[in-house]
Amino acid sequence: MTELIKAAVLTAVNKPLEIQEFPAPAPSTGGAVVTVAYAGICGTDIHLKTGNLSVPMPIVMGHEAVGTIAALDPAPSTDINGAPLRVGDRVVWSNNIPCGRCHECLVLKERTLCKSRKIYGINRTSSEAPHLLGGMAGQIALEAGTAIIRIPDDVTFEEVIALGCAGPTALHGMLENLTIHPGDTVAVQGSGPVGLAAAIYAKQMGADQVILLGAPASRLELALEIGACDEVIDMGIYTDPAARLEKLRQMTAQERGADVVIECAGVPAAVAESLDLARPNGQVLILGQYTDHGATPINPHYITKKQLKIFGSWGFAEAHYVKYVESLPQLRKRHDLGALLTVFALEDVNEAMDTVAAGQCTKAVLKP
Ligand SMILES: [Zn+2]
Ligand SMILES: [Zn+2]
Repeated sequence: MTELIKAAVLTAVNKPLEIQEFPAPAPSTGGAVVTVAYAGICGTDIHLKTGNLSVPMPIVMGHEAVGTIAALDPAPSTDINGAPLRVGDRVVWSNNIPCGRCHECLVLKERTLCKSRKIYGINRTSSEAPHLLGGMAGQIALEAGTAIIRIPDDVTFEEVIALGCAGPTALHGMLENLTIHPGDTVAVQGSGPVGLAAAIYAKQMGADQVILLGAPASRLELALEIGACDEVIDMGIYTDPAARLEKLRQMTAQERGADVVIECAGVPAAVAESLDLARPNGQVLILGQYTDHGATPINPHYITKKQLKIFGSWGFAEAHYVKYVESLPQLRKRHDLGALLTVFALEDVNEAMDTVAAGQCTKAVLKP
């Protein structure tokens, strides 16, 4: 009898996810089957559920996961560094497979902009075999072309999933666009996983002072506790943008404002505020506007007058995921990444999604 694997499936917008069972997959040509140790829940999953981002349904959700290789195609299988993969290896993988043939992939060399990227847990329906193409399941079927990365021996599953897709997302935007120098002040707007990842990497890239603007207070306390930032501005106390600007200026040299502002809030109004928080000639990275929440008024005069440098960045590709995993042995020494996790059983996926939607935890993960 074929083994059955449980998975959390979204069948319709705004409906609770269903736990369904599918036959255990066999590896496809050049592919691998991974037993999932943890699957992360990210803000994007809430947008998928509420229909803010459209996905094919039914779908096994989960675009961030880690696990152990359960089965491999007999063809030679290697990780992204060319080393052979074996059953039992602890791995993580880039959640998307760009086509590698289009204008965006080959001419622009921006694989994140590939229009025909296949993304596990986001645009792969469970209606056909192998069904299990999302992380919120006992197993996931990885196809040929997936960048599989072996987890370094001294790094735990919990530490890899703690930042989820936020880690590579922050690295993509920061490494490709920003120049951060010793002595710099970096202001990060938003204290969700992307904000925490951006704060942590700002420090790694050389910033002297990292100021996190966010809420609720419990998240800010946790950020300070794990050393993700140096100082915080609690938006529950400083509710007015003018008050936040005033406070930030007081915290920076000669009250200039931040050398670098990284927007990770996802609220359109945060973009207008980012232009104010940046010092003259400063850099602004807009990282958090993953969902289209509509237009927002900004005063473009400030961009010209302050000679701001403004960048946008979307998701991540394989290279950023590799960088992320390679950064973890150092990150885990400096920050208690495991402290970010709240663990739920796969069967409690709806409770976990509600907790994320309410902003009541920093990083919810499912343990199938
Ligand atoms: Zn995500
Ligand atoms: Zn492409």
